[in-house]
Amino acid sequence: MKFVKDFRDRELAEKLLAAISREADTSRVYRFMEVCGSHTMAVSRFGLRSLLPKNIELVSGPGCPVCVTPQWEIDAIFEIASREDVTIVTFGDMIRVPGSRGESLQKLRADGADIRIVFSPLDTLKIAEETGKNTVFIGIGFETTAPTAAALAKTAKELGTANVFVAPFCKTVPEVMDVLLADETLEIDGFLCPGHVSVVTGLDIYKAVTAQKRSAVVTGFEPLDILSSVLEMVRQHNKGEYEVKNFYTRAVKNEGNLKAQALLKEVFYQADTDWRGLGRIPKSGLRFRDEYQSVDALAKFGIQETGVTDLKGCKCGDVLKGKMKPSACPMFDNGCTPQNPYGPCMVSSEGSCSAYYKYER
Ligand code: SF4
Repeated sequence: MKFVKDFRDRELAEKLLAAISREADTSRVYRFMEVCGSHTMAVSRFGLRSLLPKNIELVSGPGCPVCVTPQWEIDAIFEIASREDVTIVTFGDMIRVPGSRGESLQKLRADGADIRIVFSPLDTLKIAEETGKNTVFIGIGFETTAPTAAALAKTAKELGTANVFVAPFCKTVPEVMDVLLADETLEIDGFLCPGHVSVVTGLDIYKAVTAQKRSAVVTGFEPLDILSSVLEMVRQHNKGEYEVKNFYTRAVKNEGNLKAQALLKEVFYQADTDWRGLGRIPKSGLRFRDEYQSVDALAKFGIQETGVTDLKGCKCGDVLKGKMKPSACPMFDNGCTPQNPYGPCMVSSEGSCSAYYKYER
């Protein structure tokens, strides 16, 4: 606990805030995006937005995996889950995500579907052996969780298991950051880069950001991590000198996790894929290579991509691009709440709408 406490030290936080106020040029606005949903949750939880000078804006980004999953992928999961001969295996954050018809895995389970929540994708193997049914792990996430889905696929293939499948819906972060930077209407000056993703990828993926004269600082999830990173970003902008920085050295190595990177390359290739709110982004999705077709749930269940990305009336798309504050959505706390979510950004523990509902209403 002492370790966490050190990164929440009030006196140091006040010093950092004073330094940020001194450094921030009052004649301009600094607009930094939290790429990661856990950063959004931490910024809201510790009230950091309100403590920063008014001309430093922290805006939410597309870093909640469940939130960026397009509607057709959610609906495809529900379609597979409705089959009698199938067991669905998933992380807990998927269980209340709404489908196009207002259904959820939780509702389907109450109606008799076999849906299991796990902490490790490899548990899928044991469940498949016990039930003998076609057992499908829902592979949703970024580079953080994609290696665990890859490990499951590889193990199932090596064991010759005939009833284990993975829905390959993982996405990659650099490609979406490129799209956000290319959209000049978003006016993003820099990124608080995702700590967990960077554990796997390392720092090189952010060089394209600094090459475009925007700041990129990999950081952790405590107040001092975030405030020291904001100070660094402000300083880089004031000097006009941009360099990728690692402010999360207690978890992230500059080169990342080379074994996990190799596993991802062995199992997946980078395919064009759909994102909620952002549309189709080239080479931003991880799909199975030909050698892994035997575990591909898309092939097994004949799932077609419909291209439908968003739920009608839900503004998750604008929230995920930092265009709209969650509280500006007409449905926020008005038909959409964590107890009764309409869109995924309100249901996920990393969702911006959920963070604002809990801490910034
Ligand atoms: Fe979507 Fe609900 Fe958030 Fe509005 S408040 S953007 S409906 S999740």
